[in-house]
Amino acid sequence: MGRTTLVFTEQKDGRLRNVSFESLTAAARIAEGGEVAAVLFGTVQGGQVEELGKYGANRVYAVACDELKQYSPDAYKQAMLQVIKRVNPDAIVLGHTGIGKDVAPRIAARLGLGLITDCTDVQSSGGDLIFVRPIFAGKAFQKKKFVDQKLFVTIRPNNIQPEENDGSPEVIPLDVEIRNLRSTVKEVVQRTASGIDLSEAKVVVSGGRGVKSSEGFKPLQELADVLGGTIGASRGACDAGYCDYALQIGQTGKVVTPELYIACGISGAIQHLAGMSQSKLIVAINKDPEAPIFQVADYGIVGDLFEVVPKLTEAFKKV
Ligand code: FAD
Repeated sequence: MGRTTLVFTEQKDGRLRNVSFESLTAAARIAEGGEVAAVLFGTVQGGQVEELGKYGANRVYAVACDELKQYSPDAYKQAMLQVIKRVNPDAIVLGHTGIGKDVAPRIAARLGLGLITDCTDVQSSGGDLIFVRPIFAGKAFQKKKFVDQKLFVTIRPNNIQPEENDGSPEVIPLDVEIRNLRSTVKEVVQRTASGIDLSEAKVVVSGGRGVKSSEGFKPLQELADVLGGTIGASRGACDAGYCDYALQIGQTGKVVTPELYIACGISGAIQHLAGMSQSKLIVAINKDPEAPIFQVADYGIVGDLFEVVPKLTEAFKKV
């Protein structure tokens, strides 16, 4: 029979975020042959329905409503609750993004559902669905399963490889009624210079206290630009005022899992590792050969970042 699985997708500047496709792949595993439905909030842009179909959506619920053009916890919660009531899915899937982290617990609490957050894998074992999630700052993985019939999960970006699976979706417009909003979004300020979302970036060049000033981030930005990535930072660098807290990676910052993470002048405190140790390839540049960051790095360069980083930029420009 399988499960009816509902994925709340996310879009930014008219483009579906990768985590939406990763969530669809997770949903296909959860559905076990059942239906995978995607929900699109805001105006549906050309090609989006086809893209969702390419990654396995059998059905797309299009919810066009002015209040949903920008994320607002109140509006999204109201809209999601109405969609869930109408579709009555067996499983609900969201990305473990800023939006997912904010709204999923509100929905779970309202509906009295269990919620497994930050899943990096969905596995099938002995007839059970197993959800894998990192714990202890990424030092260990926990495997969880639901005791309830209704499943609700959030998926960590950049972990589940999106799988193509033609869903040929039909589009179903849904109306929602948003009432008595307690807050509205007036303005969104873009903090990363490249415009690339840190949590979805394929390449992150990150700076720590060793960068020494906001000027010191310039060579890191140049390297990130050449590699098509974006910059991040340790809390040390943020606390010192070298960059904005929006760039902070770690336990109390963002969690990133890029293909390539280049740590420049970062010592490698456990709280920083919590946000980047799951990166696919880690390169550390530090002048202290004893710096703990080298213990998690795949490649280490012992040297002055102000000499090493420009050389790397020049070398990558030639590739
Ligand atoms: P430092 O530890 O001062 O390291 C600087 C490094 O730069 C040194 O290893 C030095 O050898 C190197 N260096 C200096 N000059 C150069 C140069 N020219 N070239 C190359 N290398 C050079 N931290 C986070 O990052 N993220 C978090 O989310 C976070 N959350 C926290 C939560 C709590 C509750 C607490 C208590 C702490 C948290 N921290 C977090 C802080 C964390 O413990 C560290 O203090 C912080 O990560 C250190 O930042 P850093 O590595 O940039 O600085």
